[in-house]
This record gives sequence, structure tokens and C-alpha cells, in this order.
Amino acid sequence: MSQRVTIEQLADWLRKREDIALFGHVSPDGDATGSTLALWHALRAMGKRAVVCLPDGIPLLYAMLPGADNIVNTEEPLPFVPQTALAVDVSEIERLGDAGMALFQSCPDQAALDHHFTNPGFGQLYMLDGEAAASGELVVDLIEALGVHLDEAMAECLFVAISTDSGHFNYSNTRPQTLRAAARCLEAGVDVARITERLYRTRTVGRTKLLGVVLAGLELSPDGTLSWARLTQKMLRDCRADKEDSEGIVNYLVEMMGVKVAVLAMERPEGTKLSLRSKEPFNVAKNVAVPLGGGGHDCAAGVSMKLPLEEALQKTLAMAREALNRNAETE
Ligand code: 5GP
Ligand code: MN
Repeated sequence: MSQRVTIEQLADWLRKREDIALFGHVSPDGDATGSTLALWHALRAMGKRAVVCLPDGIPLLYAMLPGADNIVNTEEPLPFVPQTALAVDVSEIERLGDAGMALFQSCPDQAALDHHFTNPGFGQLYMLDGEAAASGELVVDLIEALGVHLDEAMAECLFVAISTDSGHFNYSNTRPQTLRAAARCLEAGVDVARITERLYRTRTVGRTKLLGVVLAGLELSPDGTLSWARLTQKMLRDCRADKEDSEGIVNYLVEMMGVKVAVLAMERPEGTKLSLRSKEPFNVAKNVAVPLGGGGHDCAAGVSMKLPLEEALQKTLAMAREALNRNAETE
């Protein structure tokens, strides 16, 4: 059984640990990358040996973060044998990926820090705040609890974590603490204009082309409440785009007027990844992702299936239709 602890208890535990490996989730996003990297800086400031392990290595979009070139691809050899494992922003142990899970479990001491309310808790102890907009919000507090001065490098990583997971402070998960955490990053010297230009106002040619191709194939239910689209390996090749370029496309599907739920089915070599989005009050994690074996947040969730794209898509659409009908009946 994993014991649920406070930030301060997690800080006490970390203070007593050495040779720490920090883990993010598969397809690492800004929160997983920024949060683990900020903690890496903090642990090093405490004189500890630490390493950030991300499945697939550093995402291109976040390669400019200070310290990013120290991130290790989980499949590759580590600079030392870790004794302590801390998973950050990982909603369930399987989201570490196969290599990450094996490495995590090889460490005598294991803990998790997360903000996904679906997280069942894993490791010997875990700190979970399902109300936080980002794991980065919690890492700001953890660094303070560790007694480490929040420097500009940590702050830049954390600003990226908090900004990306809150939709740049647009989503309903944005709470007073989110803005306070971001404010602390600004006080530490973060250049908001420079960082947000790179994050939100710069995109690759591949991503731009992919957006056009995927949206050209969008479909809608007869009543217009459910939208979906497909993203195939061929589209990626034709657009010279990669997996990371598909991030964010699903938002265009849910942002259409009248749509309540959106599904983007992405063909992967190992099966299909489904990105799900909804408009409040429809909870797409609870009603669609979790019953299919996935997870996530109220309005942004996902599931991976070892099925061909069309089969995975139809299964997901059936679940979404059923949930929409059920909701309509009780409204
Ligand atoms: P995205 O659609 O942006 O990849 O993911 C949105 C959210 O859904 C993520 O923050 C993550 O919590 C959750 N999620 C995405 N893919 C999966 C998955 O395969 N399994 C689980 N359990 N959650 C996922
Ligand atoms: Mn997150």
C-alpha cells in the first residue's frame, strides 16, 4: 500500500535520500518535463546526485529549457545506479512506460508526486493534489519545503510546466495558487514574452501542415455534439511531421460550437492513442477514458489501445455516444 503524504512529508523524505532518479510519463509534456527538470536543479543545489529519465528523451519543444541536455532517455544507460525513484506527473505506474517502470521498481525507495485525480497512488509514498493545475504548481511548494532558493533556471522550467498544463492560465483548473506559483517564477526572473513565443507562437512547418490534413477529415455526429478525426502514420510522413506535432490538434475539434466531446484517434506503431476533450460539465475522463482503461482530467483525457485505429476509434465513439445519451436523459 502506498501512503498518502503532504508536501512537507515528501520534502523530509527526499532530504534523507541520495542518488535520485526523477521520472516523467510517456509522451512527456511541458509539465512532466518542466517539473522533473526543476526538481533536478533543486536536488543538485542540495548537493545530491540526480537524473531526469524521460521515455523517448527530451521533447523537442522543451529542449531549450535550462539543463535539458542532462535528461536521459529511459531506454539508455544512466550516469549512476539510482537508489531513490520519484515519479512526477505520472498518473499511474504504467504511464512510466516499460523501461521506466522497470527502473522505478529497481530502486529501493520509491515515491510519486502528481495532480491527476485518477492517480491511485504508487511507490511507498505519494503526494497528490487533484485540484492543482499542474504538477509544477506542487513542485514550486516542494522546492520551498526543501529549503532551496528558487533560481531562474528552476523557475523557467516550472513556468513552462504550469503554463502548459493550465492552457496558459485559460483552463478551469487555473486557481489562485496557480497564479501565485507562476508569480513566484516571475519574481525569480522568468521572461514571459520569450518563453511564450516559443511555446505558443512558433510552430514547425510539419505541425502546421498536419493541422490542415487532420482537420480536413473531421467528422461530426448528426446532432453536432460529438466530433472526431484521425491522424495516421501516413499523414505524419506526408507532412514530415512527428508525434509531437500532433499535440494540440484535438483542441480544434472540441472548440467547435455545439461540440461537447471530441476524439482524436492517432495511429501509433504499437496501436492507437486516443486524445479526448470535452466541454464542462461533461467529464470525459470519468465517462469515457476511465471505462476504456485510460485516465486524465475532467475535460482532457486519453487512452491507449493495442488495436488498429478504426477499431479503437469506433470503440471510443460508442462509449462517448452512450455517455452523451445518458447525460441527455438526466439533464
Ligand atoms: P493528451 O490528449 O494531451 O495526450 O492527454 C490529456 C491527458 O490525458 C493527459 O494529461 C493524461 O493525464 C491523460 N492521458 C493521455 N493519454 C493517456 C493514456 O494512454 N492513459 C491514461 N491513463 N491517461 C492518459
Ligand atoms: Mn500535468
